[in-house]
Amino acid sequence: MSHHRSPGGHERSAALDEAVDRASTRTVSSHRLPPPPSALRGRIVVAAVAVGAFAAAGAGQTLQAASDDSKKDLHLANHSDGAATFDGVGGDTASAPQILAVAKTTSEGSAEAAKLLRSQQLTTQREAAEAEKKRPKFVRPAAGDFTSGYGGRWGTMHLGIDIAGPIGTPILSVADGEVIEAGPASGFGLWVRVQHEDGTITVYGHVDTFNVREGQKVKAGQQIARMGNRGFSTGPHLHFEVWNPGGQKINPLTWLNARGVTV
Ligand SMILES: [Zn+2]
Repeated sequence: MSHHRSPGGHERSAALDEAVDRASTRTVSSHRLPPPPSALRGRIVVAAVAVGAFAAAGAGQTLQAASDDSKKDLHLANHSDGAATFDGVGGDTASAPQILAVAKTTSEGSAEAAKLLRSQQLTTQREAAEAEKKRPKFVRPAAGDFTSGYGGRWGTMHLGIDIAGPIGTPILSVADGEVIEAGPASGFGLWVRVQHEDGTITVYGHVDTFNVREGQKVKAGQQIARMGNRGFSTGPHLHFEVWNPGGQKINPLTWLNARGVTV
């Protein structure tokens, strides 16, 4: 359909080209005579503008604004193809049953869609319940190398375990709980503390950044911070502690192992 391109190869929108092509085919089949391309193009542009305005207004007011010539052209376009996009412009009675049919179908479709949606919701709920049962309730706090255990070290007590890794390594809450502190801590640079259901508190020290705030509920495995090298630290690592409900700093490795987690 290269003859529809403007002389000099000016770009026209693909939609307009398509509209011209369709209208051209339609008109040719109705009248058996190809109209002068320039006249057709002018008419189609007027029709396109009128249809666009009609869609925006949602009423037949466009026709009042259109000239008598364009009105005639719109009707010509309508009658050459009753089922095309121009339907409804000019208030043809033939378009009314079509609108009713669409409304009926939509109503029946809505009932079906509601049933389907309800069924999907039940499936989603069941899947969520199964996922909740299956999801790990305790996880390792960070990937990396276990570099130091709980106990005596360099003549002092090391009251946690160390896991070393690159700065930025995700640090995860080891269990469901609530963040009770996220911020500066003496010796740890920045730390995050999470309290769990039974009162146990887990501590994550030397973090580079944290992404939780006090009072926030977290799930096992949820990222709460990133590994850093702040405070008294000799290289990027996580210092992890477990405080039992009585407030004693117990061996985190024993605590984790008892819950199925190895480090
Ligand atoms: Zn440590």
